[in-house]
Amino acid sequence: MITMDMLRSVALFAAFDDEHYARLAMRAAEVTLLPGEYLIYQGEAPAFFVILAGKLALTKRIGGREQPIATRTIGDYFGEVPILLGVSSPVNARATEPVRVLRLGADEFRALLADLPAFARTVCEEMLRRVSGGQRIAIAAPTSLLTLVADPWDPTAYRLRDFLARNKVLFDWQPPDVVLREDASAAVHPSISTPTPHIRFHDGTSLFTPTLRTLAERLELPTVPGAHEYDVAIVGGGPTGLSAAVYAASEGLHTLMIERVAPGGQAGTSSRIENYLGFPTGIAGEDLGSRAWDQAVRLGADIVLARDVVALTPGAACHAISLDGGDSVRARTVLLATGVDWRHLVVPNIDHFLGRGVYYGAARTEARACRGADVYLVGGGNSAGQAGTSSRIENYLGFPAGIAGEELGRRASDQAVRLGAD
Ligand SMILES: Cc1cc2nc3c(=O)[nH]c(=O)nc-3n(C[C@H](O)[C@H](O)[C@H](O)COP(=O)(O)OP(=O)(O)OC[C@H]3O[C@@H](n4cnc5c(N)ncnc54)[C@H](O)[C@@H]3O)c2cc1C
Repeated sequence: MITMDMLRSVALFAAFDDEHYARLAMRAAEVTLLPGEYLIYQGEAPAFFVILAGKLALTKRIGGREQPIATRTIGDYFGEVPILLGVSSPVNARATEPVRVLRLGADEFRALLADLPAFARTVCEEMLRRVSGGQRIAIAAPTSLLTLVADPWDPTAYRLRDFLARNKVLFDWQPPDVVLREDASAAVHPSISTPTPHIRFHDGTSLFTPTLRTLAERLELPTVPGAHEYDVAIVGGGPTGLSAAVYAASEGLHTLMIERVAPGGQAGTSSRIENYLGFPTGIAGEDLGSRAWDQAVRLGADIVLARDVVALTPGAACHAISLDGGDSVRARTVLLATGVDWRHLVVPNIDHFLGRGVYYGAARTEARACRGADVYLVGGGNSAGQAGTSSRIENYLGFPAGIAGEELGRRASDQAVRLGAD
C-alpha cells in the first residue's frame, strides 16, 4: 500500500502538499517484483510508474531480439510519454533486482496532471526531453546484427535469408566477391576461404554453413523446450498455432508451441492482412506473428523455434513428441496446426532450382536477388498480387497459372539451360 510518507521521499512529488499526497496515495497502487519479473510489456496499455526501490531494465524488441534501451532506478519515473501520446507501451520493463514501484493508471495520471499544473509542467518538460531522445533511438535503431556472405543463387543461403527475415532479424547480405574485394582493399587476410554461406556477426565471430538451429541458438532464439511435460503441445506456429498458444496459456495450461521456421507461418509472409479481427486498417503478416508470439510468451507459453516435430507416439495419459535432433517432450493434449504446403509446379527438374531463382512465396529479401532480372509470377491470386507489388520487383511480369503453362515451361527451361541443366 502506498503511504503519504513514501510519497514525501520522492523528488518528483516535492512540491506536493498533504492534500495532494493523500489524493495520490488513494489513487496509486504499489507493485512489488522479483528479479526477472516484468512490470509492463511492449505493446501493453501504458501506465505511469515511479520507482520506490530497486532497479528496472527497459528493453525493446528490435530485429527479433529483446535489446536493452535504458535502466531506471530509485526515484526515476516513466510511462508519461505513451500515455500523453495515446500509444501503447514502447518498451518492456523488467526487474533486475527486487523492486517496489508506484503505479498510476492512465486516467488517474491525466487527472493528476489536470489538478496540479506545476506537476504537469515538470512532467511535460521531461517528456519533451525524452521524446527527442526517443527520436534519436528510433533513427539509430534498428541496426543489423550480422552479415550473410553468400552467392545470391545459393539455395542454402536462401533458407538462411528466409529464416532471418521471417524472424525479424536484421542482416546485411554481401556476395563473396564483394567481401573478398573489401578484405583485399583493407589489406586483411581474406576471411572467406572457408565455405559459404558464411555468417559474420558484428562482434567478430562467424558461423560457416550453419543449420537453422545453430543460427537460432547463436541469436539466442528459444530452441529447447523448458520442461519435459506439458498440458498442451502445439505443432506449428502459424496463426492457428499462435492463437491456440495464447488461449491455452491464458487458461493457465502449461503450453508448448513448436515451430520449424518462424512465428506467423504463411501469414508471416504476407505484406498486409486486411481481414484479421481487431486490426481495422490491416497488419503486416510478420507483425501479426511477432505480436502474437509476444502475447503467448507473456501469458506463459513456451515457444521453440527452428525445430521440427518428426514423430508422435500416442499414449494413454500422455503423448510423446519427438523433435529433430533427439529431444522429446510429453503432453496430455497435442494440437496439430501444421497448415498447408505450397502446391508445387509440375515442371521437369524444377526442384533443382529451388532457392536459385525459383521460389515459392515471395519474401522481401528475394527482391534484392531479383533486381534487374525478369521475374515471372505463377498464379494469379492474392499472394501473387502481393508479391508483385510489395516486393517492388523490377521488370515484374505476372502470369495467371491457368494460362501460363506453355510459356512458363519454355521460360523455365531456358533459365534451366542458362544455369547449366541438361
Ligand atoms: C502471401 C500470403 C498472403 C496471405 N494473405 C492472407 C490474407 O490477407 N488474409 C487471410 O485470411 N489469409 C491470408 N493468407 C492465408 C493465411 O496466411 C493462411 O490461411 C494461414 O496462415 C493458415 O494458418 P495456419 O496456422 O493454419 O497454417 P500455416 O500458416 O501454414 O502455419 C503452419 C506452421 O506449421 C509449421 N510446421 C509445419 N509442420 C511442422 C512440423 N512438423 N514441426 C514444426 N512446425 C511445423 C510451419 O512451419 C508453419 O509455420 C495468405 C497466405 C499467403 C501465403
